[in-house]
Amino acid sequence: MANYLAMSSEELVEEQQKLRVEYQTYKNMGLNLNMDRGKPCTEQLDLSKEMLKMDNYIGEDGFDARNYGVLEGMPEARRFFAELLNADMEEVIVGGNSSLQLMYYLIDLGWRQGFVDSPRPWRHYNALKFLCPVPGYDRHFRITEYFGFQMINIPMTENGPDMDMVEALVQKDESIKGMWCVPVYSNPDGYCYSAETVRRLARMKTAAPDFKIIWDNAYVVHHLTDEQIEIPALLYECQKAGNPERPLTFCSTSKITYPGAGVAALAASERNIRYILKNMMPMIISFDKMNQLRHVQYLKNKEGVLAHMRKHRAILEPKFNLVKQTFAEQLSPCGDIAHWTDPKGGYFISLYLMEGCAKRTVQLCKDAGVTLTGAGAAYPYGLDPKDSHLRIAPTYPSLQELETASQLLTLCARLATIEVLLK
Ligand code: PLP
Repeated sequence: MANYLAMSSEELVEEQQKLRVEYQTYKNMGLNLNMDRGKPCTEQLDLSKEMLKMDNYIGEDGFDARNYGVLEGMPEARRFFAELLNADMEEVIVGGNSSLQLMYYLIDLGWRQGFVDSPRPWRHYNALKFLCPVPGYDRHFRITEYFGFQMINIPMTENGPDMDMVEALVQKDESIKGMWCVPVYSNPDGYCYSAETVRRLARMKTAAPDFKIIWDNAYVVHHLTDEQIEIPALLYECQKAGNPERPLTFCSTSKITYPGAGVAALAASERNIRYILKNMMPMIISFDKMNQLRHVQYLKNKEGVLAHMRKHRAILEPKFNLVKQTFAEQLSPCGDIAHWTDPKGGYFISLYLMEGCAKRTVQLCKDAGVTLTGAGAAYPYGLDPKDSHLRIAPTYPSLQELETASQLLTLCARLATIEVLLK
């Protein structure tokens, strides 16, 4: 292998022919592998088996969790999530199994009714905009697209979104109603917001009086190293800065226990919580409190969660290492044709290829039996302006499958790069 960027066209064609032979060998293997969504593997799901044996459904204040009532969640569950979300228990609502559903509900609430600090419901504006740090979580973007927001790309850096750009935009445009954030081990780069970024988000002046930060702490305890990165609490920083109603913060146990049957929670100012509960009332009598109790009895508190997450790490760390090592062995010698992130937690690695190579790489992989997340998926409207980003999800496949899939992926990336260089 040699530096592609220093090769003549003849040398590139020669390399291409070699790679095509290799590619055909993979095709002949009849592979059927999936590195698409960030799902836990079966071994991870099995870690929480014992939880299903928890069957005391009487809560600490004597309330029977099997019955209707207590929309805000069982008190012990509110306390549990308050610790995870760095909030007081009165600032927490414990919901059903999905934090994404809670996020959707709150965007819907802003759109239909507005928030406590809204001059009018968002649907009464001619234009609605939302800031989207990119690359980001495709399902966030789908929500704001669904409600008709114009989404504005904000480049991510290792310290979080480009705050100069964010501040400049929100200061002058009242139609910018909010911003998506995955502050810890971001999906998909694995970056963590710096303390400075958190404080600037809390303090910045916004033209919209009801600007909302959707603070999705999906990976807040999902460490892959000993470092256990923690960042300042946005709720507290916003309170201190005089913007207490700005943050709506979320997390769930989807990737702690079960994605299909975990527990989700949201934390916000007490005023927001009262308003949200009042508006939830017509929708639901109460969420699944039996599951809330099972989770608290099994995981106990943040310390218990962190101990449980160490078991996940033992399964995931070798998978992340294998992918990064394959990238280093197969892509680095080819010169500056790709770079990738080195996350200290979370569920993804971002692989950045040369401009114009991402879609072609995904297609080549697909034709050889390996499904990747679609190129562009991590950008609003599915449009990566450079067609260079791939979201790699190493958690679900076995180590052996991952080895084959990442070898093939690097091969396809090299083929796609050569095609672009030969154009
Ligand atoms: N938020 C982020 C950033 C995610 O990556 C995911 C799942 O991949 C979710 C939310 C989904 O969370 P939940 O299962 O709680 O709806």
